[in-house]
Amino acid sequence: MYSKSEMLFGKAKQVIPGGVNSPVRAFKSVGGTPIFMERAKGAYMYDVDGNQYIDYINSWGPMILGHAYEPVIKAIQEYAAYSTSFGAPTELEIKIAALIVSMVPNIDMVRMVNSGTEACMTALRLARGYTGRNKFIKFEGCYHGHADAFLVSAGSGVATLGIQSVPGVTATVAEDTLTAPYNNLPAVEQLVAEHGGDIAAIIIEPVAGNMGCILPQPGFLEGLRAICDANNILLIFDEVMTGFRLARGGAQELLGIKADLVTFGKIIGAGMPVGAVAGPKEIMENLAPAGKVYQAGTLSGNPIAMIAGYTLLQTLNDNPVIYQQLEEKASYLVNGLKEAFGAAGIVHSINQMGSMLSAHFTEYPIVDFSAASAANNELFKRFFHAMLERGVYLPPSAFESWFMCNALTTEDLDATIAAAKSAMQAIK
Ligand code: PMP
Repeated sequence: MYSKSEMLFGKAKQVIPGGVNSPVRAFKSVGGTPIFMERAKGAYMYDVDGNQYIDYINSWGPMILGHAYEPVIKAIQEYAAYSTSFGAPTELEIKIAALIVSMVPNIDMVRMVNSGTEACMTALRLARGYTGRNKFIKFEGCYHGHADAFLVSAGSGVATLGIQSVPGVTATVAEDTLTAPYNNLPAVEQLVAEHGGDIAAIIIEPVAGNMGCILPQPGFLEGLRAICDANNILLIFDEVMTGFRLARGGAQELLGIKADLVTFGKIIGAGMPVGAVAGPKEIMENLAPAGKVYQAGTLSGNPIAMIAGYTLLQTLNDNPVIYQQLEEKASYLVNGLKEAFGAAGIVHSINQMGSMLSAHFTEYPIVDFSAASAANNELFKRFFHAMLERGVYLPPSAFESWFMCNALTTEDLDATIAAAKSAMQAIK
């Protein structure tokens, strides 16, 4: 069933560390061979062995309207003929920045970068430069890319691989990273009481997606906002996952909380390598060349990436009904999964907001990283493989969110629920 993938993985390991270019792809925590993909269309991916999958990763978020969305592909093809990069400004960069400013609350300016990692790295440097302070608070199990300062108690692949402390990240750098459990305001208050005058920023995934999907409990984000206001700390929303996914204006709009800086990635490039940091003029103009906080990129604002992102964002902007449809599809799926797990007598805890969700096998609510770690991840592994065999491609780790796309039909959702029922009966 996977013979060509197995052969390719063998070859890949000879020339690529671990056989993959990003760790979670390696199926390390679930075991088995990563599936090598050949093509994808709408809600489906097709592997090199000719297997078809209903995709619940969607490139970890960007493919909100499904793979190979035709207007995006057409725009890329058209613009590729003009040049793949100029290293000089284009009008397109103004158009996408203006569109983002019109969609997202509380921002005046946008700086384009090439990944979510760069976006968060830039936001942190900007917050430090703006406040003149060095330390910052992040939350256990949140992932903000692989810049040194963020690789402390990080989620996603760092959690999946169980890496406690990352070799190469110096103790001096890590010292300025303060951590608190997600949803735990008293822990944040304690850190601020101890280090208040040294803290530049609190960075958070407003809905976490890198330890499974974890929702902010009522009052938590409001509490962070109040702590930041009282202590002149910048609140950074890492909306690399939630931006343009939970709502046109992201989590800020959906949850009604103002952030001082926002980072984006994923959807903003429609699958091309893009990220962005955005915020009010007063802060953003500290970035070079307007200010002294240096940040740059040879390929930043790349025309192919910009036209891909612009085309997708325009569609989302013009069709807010997409968010309602995604919410309905996600709720339908969650109800079906609950029924499937319940019928097999499996305890479960499913978190969902909009088109992000995850299932943990535990009777306890999943509110932070410890709770996610304490769930039955052995059962998740078996569930993952049983679903894969039944043509459903889930994230290969319980420490990741599932992402839904709007190309999913009711038939796809029913097929997924039927697969979950049969998978659970097979493995329980
Ligand atoms: N922030 C969050 C919330 C993310 O989920 C990710 C990646 N999954 C990043 C930052 C880093 O983005 P990238 O992988 O594009 O560098």
